[in-house]
Amino acid sequence: MIQPLLSVVVPLLEDTIPSPPPDRPRPPPEWKRIRKARRHAAMRYYCELFLVTAYTAGTFALSIFGSYFAGVLDYANPTGMVAVAQLPLIVGLVGRNNVLSMLTGASYDHINYLHRTSGRVCFFGALAHTFGWWLDRGLGRHAWTWRIYTAIPAMAGLTALTLFSFRIIRNRYHQLFRDVHIIAALMFLIMTYFHTPEYRVWVWPALLLWSLDRAVGLARMLYVYVRSRGSPTATVELLDADVLRVSVPVPFKWKAGTHAYLSVPGVSTIPWEQHPFTFANIPSPTPGPSPAVFLMRVHGGFTHQLRNALDSTISQFPATVEGPYGEPVDVRHYDSLLCIAGGSGITLCLSHFLDALAQADRGRAPTSLRLAWNTRKLAHVRTIAPLLETALENIANPDVRIRIDIHVTRSHASDEPTDPNVGFDSTLPFEAKPGEASPLLEHLRHLRGGSQSSYGSSRASVSSDGDEPRLSEDELFRSGLGPAAAAYAHVHFGRSLVTEMIRAEVSEIQGGGRLGVIVCGPPTLTLDARCGVNTVMPEAGAEINFHSGSFCF
Ligand SMILES: Cc1cc2nc3c(=O)[nH]c(=O)nc-3n(C[C@H](O)[C@H](O)[C@H](O)COP(=O)(O)OP(=O)(O)OC[C@H]3O[C@@H](n4cnc5c(N)ncnc54)[C@H](O)[C@@H]3O)c2cc1C
Repeated sequence: MIQPLLSVVVPLLEDTIPSPPPDRPRPPPEWKRIRKARRHAAMRYYCELFLVTAYTAGTFALSIFGSYFAGVLDYANPTGMVAVAQLPLIVGLVGRNNVLSMLTGASYDHINYLHRTSGRVCFFGALAHTFGWWLDRGLGRHAWTWRIYTAIPAMAGLTALTLFSFRIIRNRYHQLFRDVHIIAALMFLIMTYFHTPEYRVWVWPALLLWSLDRAVGLARMLYVYVRSRGSPTATVELLDADVLRVSVPVPFKWKAGTHAYLSVPGVSTIPWEQHPFTFANIPSPTPGPSPAVFLMRVHGGFTHQLRNALDSTISQFPATVEGPYGEPVDVRHYDSLLCIAGGSGITLCLSHFLDALAQADRGRAPTSLRLAWNTRKLAHVRTIAPLLETALENIANPDVRIRIDIHVTRSHASDEPTDPNVGFDSTLPFEAKPGEASPLLEHLRHLRGGSQSSYGSSRASVSSDGDEPRLSEDELFRSGLGPAAAAYAHVHFGRSLVTEMIRAEVSEIQGGGRLGVIVCGPPTLTLDARCGVNTVMPEAGAEINFHSGSFCF
Protein backbone atom coordinates (compact mmCIF):
# COMPACT_ATOMS: atom_id res chain seq x y z
CA MET A 1 0.00 0.00 0.00
CA ILE A 2 2.91 2.35 0.80
CA GLN A 3 4.49 1.70 -2.57
CA PRO A 4 1.64 3.16 -4.70
CA LEU A 5 1.40 6.12 -2.31
CA LEU A 6 5.09 6.87 -2.67
CA SER A 7 4.88 6.59 -6.42
CA VAL A 8 2.37 9.47 -6.40
CA VAL A 9 3.93 11.65 -3.67
CA VAL A 10 7.61 11.45 -4.65
CA PRO A 11 7.23 12.90 -8.15
CA LEU A 12 5.15 15.72 -6.68
CA LEU A 13 7.85 16.45 -4.11
CA GLU A 14 10.53 16.28 -6.77
CA ASP A 15 8.72 18.98 -8.68
CA THR A 16 8.32 21.29 -5.70
CA ILE A 17 11.60 20.78 -3.81
CA PRO A 18 14.40 22.49 -5.71
CA SER A 19 17.03 19.95 -6.64
CA PRO A 20 20.53 20.70 -5.34
CA PRO A 21 22.70 22.51 -7.84
CA PRO A 22 24.73 20.07 -9.92
CA ASP A 23 28.29 19.61 -8.72
CA ARG A 24 30.31 21.98 -10.82
CA PRO A 25 34.00 21.26 -10.91
CA ARG A 26 35.95 24.03 -9.26
CA PRO A 27 39.28 25.29 -10.52
CA PRO A 28 42.21 24.29 -8.30
CA PRO A 29 43.33 26.96 -5.82
CA GLU A 30 45.66 29.65 -7.12
CA TRP A 31 48.71 28.44 -5.13
CA LYS A 32 48.39 24.99 -6.71
CA ARG A 33 48.22 26.47 -10.20
CA ILE A 34 51.24 28.69 -9.51
CA ARG A 35 53.19 25.75 -8.11
CA LYS A 36 52.34 23.72 -11.19
CA ALA A 37 53.33 26.60 -13.49
CA ARG A 38 56.63 26.98 -11.61
CA ARG A 39 57.32 23.27 -12.00
CA HIS A 40 56.60 23.54 -15.69
CA ALA A 41 58.88 26.58 -15.99
CA ALA A 42 61.57 24.64 -14.10
CA MET A 43 61.18 21.74 -16.56
CA ARG A 44 61.72 24.12 -19.46
CA TYR A 45 64.73 25.56 -17.66
CA TYR A 46 66.22 22.07 -17.13
CA CYS A 47 65.63 21.20 -20.79
CA GLU A 48 67.44 24.37 -21.85
CA LEU A 49 70.21 23.64 -19.35
CA PHE A 50 70.56 20.14 -20.76
CA LEU A 51 70.75 21.53 -24.30
CA VAL A 52 73.43 24.08 -23.34
CA THR A 53 75.45 21.49 -21.41
CA ALA A 54 75.25 18.88 -24.17
CA TYR A 55 76.14 21.40 -26.89
CA THR A 56 78.99 22.92 -24.84
CA ALA A 57 80.40 19.53 -23.87
CA GLY A 58 80.11 18.23 -27.45
CA THR A 59 81.82 21.19 -29.12
CA PHE A 60 84.52 21.50 -26.44
CA ALA A 61 85.29 17.78 -26.52
CA LEU A 62 85.56 17.78 -30.30
CA SER A 63 87.85 20.81 -30.37
CA ILE A 64 90.11 19.61 -27.53
CA PHE A 65 90.39 16.12 -29.02
CA GLY A 66 91.24 17.78 -32.31
CA SER A 67 94.21 19.48 -30.67
CA TYR A 68 95.20 16.17 -29.02
CA PHE A 69 95.32 14.40 -32.37
CA ALA A 70 97.31 17.32 -33.76
CA GLY A 71 100.01 16.47 -31.21
CA VAL A 72 99.37 18.98 -28.37
CA LEU A 73 96.72 18.74 -25.70
CA ASP A 74 95.60 22.33 -25.57
CA TYR A 75 92.34 23.81 -24.40
CA ALA A 76 93.00 27.56 -24.46
CA ASN A 77 92.98 28.01 -28.22
CA PRO A 78 90.38 25.35 -29.18
CA THR A 79 87.81 26.82 -26.76
CA GLY A 80 88.53 30.29 -28.18
CA MET A 81 87.86 28.90 -31.65
CA VAL A 82 84.60 27.33 -30.47
CA ALA A 83 83.56 30.73 -29.08
CA VAL A 84 84.29 32.59 -32.33
CA ALA A 85 82.61 29.89 -34.44
CA GLN A 86 79.32 30.57 -32.63
CA LEU A 87 79.11 34.12 -33.96
CA PRO A 88 77.19 33.47 -37.20
CA LEU A 89 74.77 31.25 -35.25
CA ILE A 90 74.25 33.79 -32.47
CA VAL A 91 73.60 36.69 -34.79
CA GLY A 92 71.94 34.63 -37.51
CA LEU A 93 69.34 33.23 -35.12
CA VAL A 94 68.35 36.44 -33.37
CA GLY A 95 67.06 38.68 -36.15
CA ARG A 96 63.39 38.98 -37.05
CA ASN A 97 64.34 38.39 -40.67
CA ASN A 98 66.85 35.61 -40.08
CA VAL A 99 67.77 33.12 -42.78
CA LEU A 100 66.61 30.03 -40.82
CA SER A 101 63.13 31.54 -40.37
CA MET A 102 63.00 32.43 -44.05
CA LEU A 103 63.97 28.88 -45.02
CA THR A 104 61.85 26.94 -42.52
CA GLY A 105 58.95 29.30 -41.81
CA ALA A 106 59.64 28.97 -38.05
CA SER A 107 59.16 32.36 -36.46
CA TYR A 108 62.21 34.11 -34.99
CA ASP A 109 60.66 34.11 -31.51
CA HIS A 110 60.28 30.31 -31.63
CA ILE A 111 63.94 29.67 -32.42
CA ASN A 112 65.22 32.31 -30.03
CA TYR A 113 66.33 29.67 -27.53
CA LEU A 114 68.93 28.49 -30.08
CA HIS A 115 70.34 32.01 -30.07
CA ARG A 116 70.60 31.85 -26.28
CA THR A 117 72.20 28.39 -26.41
CA SER A 118 74.94 29.37 -28.86
CA GLY A 119 75.44 32.62 -26.91
CA ARG A 120 76.14 30.70 -23.72
CA VAL A 121 78.52 28.33 -25.49
CA CYS A 122 80.34 31.39 -26.84
CA PHE A 123 80.61 32.85 -23.34
CA PHE A 124 81.93 29.63 -21.76
CA GLY A 125 84.33 29.15 -24.67
CA ALA A 126 85.69 32.70 -24.35
CA LEU A 127 85.98 32.28 -20.57
CA ALA A 128 87.96 29.03 -20.92
CA HIS A 129 90.12 30.68 -23.58
CA THR A 130 90.87 33.66 -21.31
CA PHE A 131 91.70 31.49 -18.30
CA GLY A 132 93.71 29.14 -20.48
CA TRP A 133 95.95 31.97 -21.57
CA TRP A 134 96.06 33.57 -18.19
CA LEU A 135 96.81 30.52 -16.04
CA ASP A 136 98.44 27.96 -18.31
CA ARG A 137 100.44 30.21 -20.50
CA GLY A 138 101.17 32.96 -18.02
CA LEU A 139 99.50 36.06 -19.36
CA GLY A 140 101.75 38.25 -17.26
CA ARG A 141 104.77 37.01 -19.16
CA HIS A 142 103.41 38.25 -22.47
CA ALA A 143 103.95 41.70 -23.80
CA TRP A 144 100.86 43.95 -23.91
CA THR A 145 100.12 43.70 -27.59
CA TRP A 146 96.97 44.58 -29.54
CA ARG A 147 95.79 40.99 -28.91
CA ILE A 148 95.48 41.74 -25.22
CA TYR A 149 94.21 45.28 -25.70
CA THR A 150 91.36 43.96 -27.87
CA ALA A 151 90.74 40.85 -25.74
CA ILE A 152 89.83 42.84 -22.62
CA PRO A 153 87.00 44.93 -24.14
CA ALA A 154 85.80 41.91 -26.15
CA MET A 155 85.51 39.84 -22.96
CA ALA A 156 83.93 42.78 -21.10
CA GLY A 157 81.32 43.14 -23.87
CA LEU A 158 80.55 39.42 -23.86
CA THR A 159 80.25 39.35 -20.06
CA ALA A 160 77.85 42.31 -20.13
CA LEU A 161 75.83 40.57 -22.86
CA THR A 162 75.54 37.43 -20.75
CA LEU A 163 74.81 39.09 -17.42
CA PHE A 164 72.16 41.42 -18.86
CA SER A 165 70.42 38.59 -20.68
CA PHE A 166 69.10 36.79 -17.62
CA ARG A 167 65.34 36.38 -17.77
CA ILE A 168 64.80 38.58 -14.74
CA ILE A 169 66.56 41.53 -16.45
CA ARG A 170 64.88 40.79 -19.79
CA ASN A 171 61.46 40.93 -18.17
CA ARG A 172 61.92 43.71 -15.64
CA TYR A 173 64.23 46.09 -17.50
CA HIS A 174 63.58 45.25 -21.12
CA GLN A 175 64.81 48.54 -22.56
CA LEU A 176 68.04 48.32 -20.55
CA PHE A 177 68.48 44.75 -21.76
CA ARG A 178 68.04 45.85 -25.39
CA ASP A 179 70.36 48.87 -25.13
CA VAL A 180 73.11 46.89 -23.40
CA HIS A 181 72.64 44.06 -25.90
CA ILE A 182 73.20 46.30 -28.92
CA ILE A 183 76.16 48.28 -27.51
CA ALA A 184 77.89 45.25 -25.94
CA ALA A 185 77.31 43.08 -29.03
CA LEU A 186 78.87 45.70 -31.31
CA MET A 187 81.81 46.10 -28.93
CA PHE A 188 82.34 42.34 -28.78
CA LEU A 189 82.09 41.86 -32.56
CA ILE A 190 84.46 44.71 -33.45
CA MET A 191 87.04 43.77 -30.81
CA THR A 192 86.90 40.09 -31.78
CA TYR A 193 87.45 41.11 -35.39
CA PHE A 194 90.76 42.76 -34.44
CA HIS A 195 91.65 40.17 -31.80
CA THR A 196 91.54 37.18 -34.16
CA PRO A 197 92.59 38.21 -37.69
CA GLU A 198 92.97 34.51 -38.62
CA TYR A 199 89.35 33.77 -37.66
CA ARG A 200 87.67 36.79 -39.24
CA VAL A 201 85.95 34.30 -41.47
CA TRP A 202 83.53 33.73 -38.55
CA VAL A 203 83.05 37.42 -37.77
CA TRP A 204 82.20 38.55 -41.29
CA PRO A 205 79.18 36.28 -41.75
CA ALA A 206 77.84 37.44 -38.37
CA LEU A 207 78.08 41.10 -39.37
CA LEU A 208 76.60 40.28 -42.76
CA LEU A 209 73.62 38.41 -41.30
CA TRP A 210 72.94 41.23 -38.85
CA SER A 211 73.11 43.82 -41.65
CA LEU A 212 70.80 41.69 -43.81
CA ASP A 213 68.25 41.44 -41.02
CA ARG A 214 68.26 45.18 -40.39
CA ALA A 215 68.18 45.97 -44.13
CA VAL A 216 65.06 43.82 -44.58
CA GLY A 217 63.49 45.40 -41.47
CA LEU A 218 64.25 48.88 -42.80
CA ALA A 219 62.86 47.96 -46.22
CA ARG A 220 59.61 46.82 -44.58
CA MET A 221 59.31 50.15 -42.74
CA LEU A 222 60.18 52.08 -45.87
CA TYR A 223 57.50 50.18 -47.80
CA VAL A 224 54.90 51.29 -45.27
CA TYR A 225 56.24 54.85 -45.36
CA VAL A 226 56.21 55.10 -49.17
CA ARG A 227 52.83 53.41 -49.68
CA SER A 228 51.27 55.54 -46.93
CA ARG A 229 52.85 58.69 -48.44
CA GLY A 230 54.57 59.53 -45.16
CA SER A 231 54.36 58.15 -41.64
CA PRO A 232 51.03 56.43 -41.07
CA THR A 233 48.86 58.05 -38.43
CA ALA A 234 48.19 55.99 -35.32
CA THR A 235 44.90 56.71 -33.59
CA VAL A 236 45.31 55.96 -29.90
CA GLU A 237 42.26 55.56 -27.66
CA LEU A 238 42.27 55.23 -23.91
CA LEU A 239 39.67 52.57 -23.16
CA ASP A 240 40.44 52.01 -19.51
CA ALA A 241 43.09 53.23 -17.07
CA ASP A 242 45.50 50.56 -18.33
CA VAL A 243 44.18 49.64 -21.77
CA LEU A 244 44.87 51.41 -25.07
CA ARG A 245 43.55 50.65 -28.52
CA VAL A 246 45.77 51.74 -31.40
CA SER A 247 44.56 51.74 -35.00
CA VAL A 248 47.03 52.31 -37.84
CA PRO A 249 46.26 52.00 -41.56
CA VAL A 250 48.92 49.74 -43.11
CA PRO A 251 49.46 48.98 -46.80
CA PHE A 252 50.22 45.26 -46.28
CA LYS A 253 48.03 42.26 -45.44
CA TRP A 254 48.77 40.11 -42.42
CA LYS A 255 47.65 36.74 -41.09
CA ALA A 256 45.83 36.16 -37.82
CA GLY A 257 48.16 35.57 -34.88
CA THR A 258 51.03 37.59 -36.30
CA HIS A 259 52.48 40.76 -34.83
CA ALA A 260 54.23 43.96 -35.88
CA TYR A 261 56.77 46.29 -34.33
CA LEU A 262 55.26 49.67 -33.60
CA SER A 263 57.18 52.81 -32.92
CA VAL A 264 55.88 56.27 -32.11
CA PRO A 265 59.02 58.45 -32.36
CA GLY A 266 57.40 61.59 -30.94
CA VAL A 267 56.45 59.76 -27.76
CA SER A 268 59.14 57.20 -26.90
CA THR A 269 62.38 58.13 -25.11
CA ILE A 270 64.50 56.85 -27.99
CA PRO A 271 63.02 57.74 -31.42
CA TRP A 272 63.77 54.31 -32.94
CA GLU A 273 62.36 52.37 -29.97
CA GLN A 274 60.12 49.59 -31.30
CA HIS A 275 57.65 47.40 -29.42
CA PRO A 276 55.91 44.26 -30.65
CA PHE A 277 52.10 44.11 -30.62
CA THR A 278 49.80 41.43 -32.00
CA PHE A 279 47.22 42.30 -34.64
CA ALA A 280 43.84 42.06 -32.93
CA ASN A 281 41.90 42.09 -36.19
CA ILE A 282 42.22 40.64 -39.67
CA PRO A 283 42.91 42.68 -42.81
CA SER A 284 40.03 43.77 -44.97
CA PRO A 285 39.63 41.52 -48.04
CA THR A 286 39.49 44.50 -50.41
CA PRO A 287 42.71 45.84 -51.96
CA GLY A 288 44.27 48.92 -50.41
CA PRO A 289 45.31 49.81 -46.88
CA SER A 290 43.72 47.96 -43.96
CA PRO A 291 43.33 49.42 -40.49
CA ALA A 292 45.49 47.35 -38.14
CA VAL A 293 44.15 47.31 -34.59
CA PHE A 294 46.42 46.69 -31.59
CA LEU A 295 45.24 46.37 -28.01
CA MET A 296 47.84 47.40 -25.46
CA ARG A 297 48.11 46.79 -21.78
CA VAL A 298 49.82 49.81 -20.22
CA HIS A 299 53.12 49.01 -18.46
CA GLY A 300 55.84 51.30 -17.18
CA GLY A 301 57.79 52.26 -20.33
CA PHE A 302 56.67 53.10 -23.86
CA THR A 303 53.02 52.19 -23.27
CA HIS A 304 52.99 54.45 -20.20
CA GLN A 305 54.50 57.31 -22.22
CA LEU A 306 51.91 56.77 -24.95
CA ARG A 307 49.07 56.96 -22.45
CA ASN A 308 50.54 60.11 -20.90
CA ALA A 309 50.88 61.73 -24.34
CA LEU A 310 47.12 61.59 -24.95
CA ASP A 311 45.41 65.01 -24.93
CA SER A 312 42.01 63.44 -24.40
CA THR A 313 40.70 59.89 -24.56
CA ILE A 314 41.62 59.82 -28.24
CA SER A 315 44.68 61.31 -30.00
CA GLN A 316 46.67 60.82 -33.17
CA PHE A 317 50.44 60.40 -33.63
CA PRO A 318 52.76 59.71 -36.58
CA ALA A 319 54.03 56.14 -36.23
CA THR A 320 56.10 53.51 -38.00
CA VAL A 321 55.12 49.87 -38.37
CA GLU A 322 57.47 47.00 -39.17
CA GLY A 323 55.89 43.66 -39.91
CA PRO A 324 54.14 41.34 -40.10
CA TYR A 325 56.15 38.78 -38.12
CA GLY A 326 55.28 35.49 -36.44
CA GLU A 327 54.00 32.06 -37.25
CA PRO A 328 50.29 32.02 -38.08
CA VAL A 329 48.03 29.05 -37.31
CA ASP A 330 45.93 27.84 -40.23
CA VAL A 331 42.51 27.47 -38.60
CA ARG A 332 41.06 25.82 -41.71
CA HIS A 333 42.56 22.53 -40.51
CA TYR A 334 39.99 22.28 -37.74
CA ASP A 335 36.33 21.33 -37.53
CA SER A 336 36.04 23.13 -34.25
CA LEU A 337 38.11 25.96 -32.81
CA LEU A 338 38.43 26.95 -29.18
CA CYS A 339 40.33 30.16 -28.41
CA ILE A 340 41.14 30.71 -24.73
CA ALA A 341 42.55 34.08 -23.74
CA GLY A 342 43.73 35.66 -20.53
CA GLY A 343 44.14 39.45 -20.21
CA SER A 344 45.91 41.07 -23.16
CA GLY A 345 46.28 37.59 -24.73
CA ILE A 346 42.86 38.35 -26.22
CA THR A 347 44.57 40.08 -29.16
CA LEU A 348 46.01 36.83 -30.50
CA CYS A 349 42.85 34.81 -29.78
CA LEU A 350 40.55 37.46 -31.21
CA SER A 351 42.39 37.64 -34.51
CA HIS A 352 42.18 33.83 -34.85
CA PHE A 353 38.51 33.89 -33.90
CA LEU A 354 37.76 36.62 -36.46
CA ASP A 355 39.76 34.76 -39.09
CA ALA A 356 37.88 31.52 -38.37
CA LEU A 357 34.57 33.43 -38.54
CA ALA A 358 35.49 34.81 -41.95
CA GLN A 359 36.52 31.33 -43.15
CA ALA A 360 33.40 29.68 -41.74
CA ASP A 361 31.17 32.28 -43.32
CA ARG A 362 32.68 31.37 -46.68
CA GLY A 363 31.60 27.77 -46.04
CA ARG A 364 35.03 26.50 -44.98
CA ALA A 365 36.05 24.75 -41.76
CA PRO A 366 35.87 25.31 -38.82
CA THR A 367 32.14 25.44 -38.33
CA SER A 368 32.12 25.52 -34.54
CA LEU A 369 33.84 28.50 -32.89
CA ARG A 370 34.22 29.38 -29.26
CA LEU A 371 36.07 32.32 -27.77
CA ALA A 372 36.66 32.37 -24.01
CA TRP A 373 38.24 35.41 -22.42
CA ASN A 374 39.36 35.67 -18.80
CA THR A 375 39.49 39.36 -18.06
CA ARG A 376 39.76 41.33 -14.85
CA LYS A 377 36.92 43.71 -15.62
CA LEU A 378 33.76 43.43 -17.61
CA ALA A 379 34.48 46.92 -18.92
CA HIS A 380 37.51 45.56 -20.81
CA VAL A 381 35.08 43.85 -23.19
CA ARG A 382 34.60 47.30 -24.72
CA THR A 383 38.06 47.04 -26.26
CA ILE A 384 36.95 44.20 -28.51
CA ALA A 385 33.20 44.88 -28.76
CA PRO A 386 33.28 46.88 -32.03
CA LEU A 387 35.46 44.25 -33.76
CA LEU A 388 33.18 41.43 -32.63
CA GLU A 389 30.08 43.35 -33.62
CA THR A 390 31.30 44.09 -37.15
CA ALA A 391 32.27 40.45 -37.68
CA LEU A 392 29.13 38.91 -36.19
CA GLU A 393 26.46 41.18 -37.61
CA ASN A 394 27.32 40.03 -41.13
CA ILE A 395 27.44 36.27 -40.53
CA ALA A 396 25.40 34.77 -43.33
CA ASN A 397 26.16 31.06 -42.86
CA PRO A 398 23.48 29.63 -40.52
CA ASP A 399 25.48 26.42 -39.93
CA VAL A 400 28.24 28.16 -38.01
CA ARG A 401 28.03 27.52 -34.28
CA ILE A 402 29.38 30.40 -32.24
CA ARG A 403 29.85 31.01 -28.57
CA ILE A 404 31.62 33.78 -26.66
CA ASP A 405 32.39 33.33 -22.97
CA ILE A 406 33.48 36.29 -20.91
CA HIS A 407 34.96 35.26 -17.56
CA VAL A 408 35.22 38.22 -15.24
CA THR A 409 37.97 37.19 -12.86
CA ARG A 410 37.78 40.16 -10.52
CA SER A 411 34.10 40.77 -10.13
CA HIS A 412 34.02 43.00 -7.08
CA ALA A 413 31.81 46.00 -7.69
CA SER A 414 34.66 48.37 -6.82
CA ASP A 415 36.49 47.21 -9.94
CA GLU A 416 33.78 48.52 -12.21
CA PRO A 417 33.46 52.23 -12.87
CA THR A 418 30.34 53.61 -11.28
CA ASP A 419 29.72 55.90 -14.21
CA PRO A 420 29.48 53.76 -17.37
CA ASN A 421 31.12 56.50 -19.41
CA VAL A 422 34.13 57.04 -17.16
CA GLY A 423 37.32 56.42 -19.07
CA PHE A 424 35.62 55.37 -22.28
CA ASP A 425 35.23 56.81 -25.69
CA SER A 426 31.68 58.05 -25.84
CA THR A 427 31.54 57.44 -29.58
CA LEU A 428 31.53 53.67 -29.12
CA PRO A 429 28.49 52.12 -30.74
CA PHE A 430 25.25 51.36 -28.98
CA GLU A 431 25.58 53.95 -26.27
CA ALA A 432 22.47 55.98 -25.65
CA LYS A 433 22.42 59.75 -25.87
CA PRO A 434 21.22 61.40 -22.65
CA GLY A 435 17.49 61.05 -22.35
CA GLU A 436 17.23 58.39 -25.09
CA ALA A 437 16.74 54.67 -24.73
CA SER A 438 19.89 52.67 -25.53
CA PRO A 439 19.51 50.77 -28.82
CA LEU A 440 21.50 47.94 -27.24
CA LEU A 441 19.17 47.64 -24.28
CA GLU A 442 16.19 47.79 -26.58
CA HIS A 443 17.66 45.00 -28.64
CA LEU A 444 18.47 42.91 -25.58
CA ARG A 445 14.96 43.31 -24.26
CA HIS A 446 13.73 42.12 -27.63
CA LEU A 447 16.11 39.13 -27.56
CA ARG A 448 15.13 38.19 -24.05
CA GLY A 449 11.45 38.56 -24.73
CA GLY A 450 11.26 40.18 -21.31
CA SER A 451 12.83 37.28 -19.44
CA GLN A 452 16.39 36.45 -18.45
CA SER A 453 16.20 32.79 -19.45
CA SER A 454 15.27 33.34 -23.09
CA TYR A 455 18.52 35.28 -23.50
CA GLY A 456 20.45 32.42 -21.93
CA SER A 457 19.26 30.03 -24.60
CA SER A 458 19.67 32.49 -27.43
CA ARG A 459 21.57 31.91 -30.65
CA ALA A 460 24.56 30.44 -28.84
CA SER A 461 24.19 26.95 -30.17
CA VAL A 462 26.88 25.16 -28.19
CA SER A 463 25.05 23.50 -25.33
CA SER A 464 24.89 25.75 -22.32
CA ASP A 465 26.70 24.64 -19.18
CA GLY A 466 23.71 25.71 -17.18
CA ASP A 467 24.97 29.10 -16.12
CA GLU A 468 22.69 31.86 -17.25
CA PRO A 469 24.21 35.25 -17.90
CA ARG A 470 24.16 36.88 -14.50
CA LEU A 471 24.46 40.40 -15.76
CA SER A 472 21.98 43.12 -15.36
CA GLU A 473 21.14 45.20 -18.40
CA ASP A 474 23.29 47.97 -16.98
CA GLU A 475 26.28 45.63 -16.75
CA LEU A 476 25.71 44.43 -20.29
CA PHE A 477 25.61 48.06 -21.29
CA ARG A 478 28.99 48.54 -19.62
CA SER A 479 30.50 45.64 -21.52
CA GLY A 480 29.67 47.60 -24.69
CA LEU A 481 28.68 44.46 -26.62
CA GLY A 482 26.55 45.23 -29.63
CA PRO A 483 23.33 43.32 -30.37
CA ALA A 484 24.95 40.79 -32.69
CA ALA A 485 27.81 39.93 -30.31
CA ALA A 486 25.57 40.00 -27.21
CA ALA A 487 23.40 37.33 -28.79
CA TYR A 488 26.29 34.86 -28.61
CA ALA A 489 27.81 36.03 -25.34
CA HIS A 490 27.75 34.32 -21.96
CA VAL A 491 29.15 36.10 -18.96
CA HIS A 492 30.55 34.24 -15.96
CA PHE A 493 32.21 35.36 -12.76
CA GLY A 494 35.42 33.56 -11.88
CA ARG A 495 38.08 31.86 -13.97
CA SER A 496 37.22 29.61 -16.86
CA LEU A 497 37.21 25.85 -16.31
CA VAL A 498 39.50 25.07 -19.16
CA THR A 499 39.38 21.27 -19.08
CA GLU A 500 35.57 21.30 -18.95
CA MET A 501 35.47 23.68 -21.87
CA ILE A 502 37.74 21.46 -23.97
CA ARG A 503 35.67 18.41 -23.01
CA ALA A 504 32.46 20.21 -24.02
CA GLU A 505 33.93 21.19 -27.38
CA VAL A 506 35.14 17.66 -28.08
CA SER A 507 31.71 16.23 -27.28
CA GLU A 508 30.22 18.56 -29.91
CA ILE A 509 32.47 17.30 -32.70
CA GLN A 510 30.74 14.74 -34.84
CA GLY A 511 32.53 11.73 -36.30
CA GLY A 512 36.02 12.19 -34.83
CA GLY A 513 36.80 15.62 -36.26
CA ARG A 514 39.67 17.87 -35.28
CA LEU A 515 39.61 20.44 -32.52
CA GLY A 516 42.09 23.30 -32.49
CA VAL A 517 42.83 24.87 -29.12
CA ILE A 518 44.59 28.24 -29.20
CA VAL A 519 45.58 29.76 -25.89
CA CYS A 520 47.29 33.04 -25.07
CA GLY A 521 47.55 34.47 -21.58
CA PRO A 522 49.45 34.09 -18.33
CA PRO A 523 51.60 30.95 -17.95
CA THR A 524 49.12 29.39 -15.50
CA LEU A 525 46.32 29.61 -18.09
CA THR A 526 48.52 28.13 -20.82
CA LEU A 527 49.50 25.32 -18.49
CA ASP A 528 45.85 24.67 -17.54
CA ALA A 529 44.95 24.43 -21.21
CA ARG A 530 47.91 22.17 -21.95
CA CYS A 531 46.92 19.87 -19.08
CA GLY A 532 43.28 20.03 -20.21
CA VAL A 533 44.19 18.86 -23.70
CA ASN A 534 46.33 16.06 -22.23
CA THR A 535 43.44 14.96 -20.00
CA VAL A 536 40.70 15.07 -22.63
CA MET A 537 42.63 13.68 -25.58
CA PRO A 538 42.84 10.06 -24.32
CA GLU A 539 39.13 10.13 -23.34
CA ALA A 540 37.93 11.46 -26.69
CA GLY A 541 38.01 10.05 -30.16
CA ALA A 542 38.73 13.48 -31.59
CA GLU A 543 42.11 14.84 -32.53
CA ILE A 544 43.10 17.93 -30.55
CA ASN A 545 45.85 20.28 -31.68
CA PHE A 546 47.25 22.72 -29.17
CA HIS A 547 48.78 26.11 -29.99
CA SER A 548 50.00 28.56 -27.39
CA GLY A 549 51.13 32.12 -27.77
CA SER A 550 53.02 34.25 -25.31
CA PHE A 551 54.20 37.81 -25.18
CA CYS A 552 57.76 37.05 -24.21
CA PHE A 553 60.70 35.38 -25.91
C1 LIG B 1 55.43 38.81 -30.04
C2 LIG B 1 54.84 39.74 -29.01
C3 LIG B 1 53.54 40.21 -29.16
C4 LIG B 1 52.98 41.07 -28.21
N1 LIG B 1 51.69 41.51 -28.36
C5 LIG B 1 51.14 42.31 -27.42
C6 LIG B 1 49.78 42.78 -27.54
O1 LIG B 1 49.08 42.49 -28.51
N2 LIG B 1 49.29 43.56 -26.54
C7 LIG B 1 50.04 43.91 -25.45
O2 LIG B 1 49.54 44.62 -24.57
N3 LIG B 1 51.31 43.49 -25.32
C8 LIG B 1 51.89 42.71 -26.28
N4 LIG B 1 53.19 42.31 -26.15
C9 LIG B 1 53.96 42.79 -25.02
C10 LIG B 1 54.42 44.21 -25.34
O3 LIG B 1 55.36 44.21 -26.39
C11 LIG B 1 55.05 44.84 -24.11
O4 LIG B 1 54.11 44.81 -23.07
C12 LIG B 1 55.41 46.27 -24.40
O5 LIG B 1 56.50 46.31 -25.27
C13 LIG B 1 55.70 46.94 -23.09
O6 LIG B 1 56.32 48.17 -23.32
P1 LIG B 1 56.73 49.11 -22.09
O7 LIG B 1 57.97 49.85 -22.49
O8 LIG B 1 55.57 49.94 -21.67
O9 LIG B 1 57.01 48.03 -20.96
P2 LIG B 1 58.00 47.93 -19.73
O10 LIG B 1 57.33 48.52 -18.52
O11 LIG B 1 59.35 48.43 -20.08
O12 LIG B 1 58.01 46.34 -19.58
C14 LIG B 1 56.82 45.60 -19.34
C15 LIG B 1 56.95 44.20 -19.91
O13 LIG B 1 57.02 44.25 -21.34
C16 LIG B 1 58.19 43.60 -21.81
N5 LIG B 1 58.72 44.39 -22.92
C17 LIG B 1 59.06 45.69 -22.88
N6 LIG B 1 59.53 46.08 -24.08
C18 LIG B 1 59.48 44.99 -24.88
C19 LIG B 1 59.86 44.73 -26.23
N7 LIG B 1 60.36 45.68 -27.01
N8 LIG B 1 59.70 43.48 -26.71
C20 LIG B 1 59.18 42.50 -25.95
N9 LIG B 1 58.81 42.68 -24.68
C21 LIG B 1 58.96 43.90 -24.14
C22 LIG B 1 59.15 43.58 -20.63
O14 LIG B 1 60.02 42.48 -20.70
C23 LIG B 1 58.22 43.48 -19.45
O15 LIG B 1 57.90 42.14 -19.19
C24 LIG B 1 53.76 41.46 -27.09
C25 LIG B 1 55.07 41.00 -26.95
C26 LIG B 1 55.60 40.14 -27.88
C27 LIG B 1 57.01 39.64 -27.70
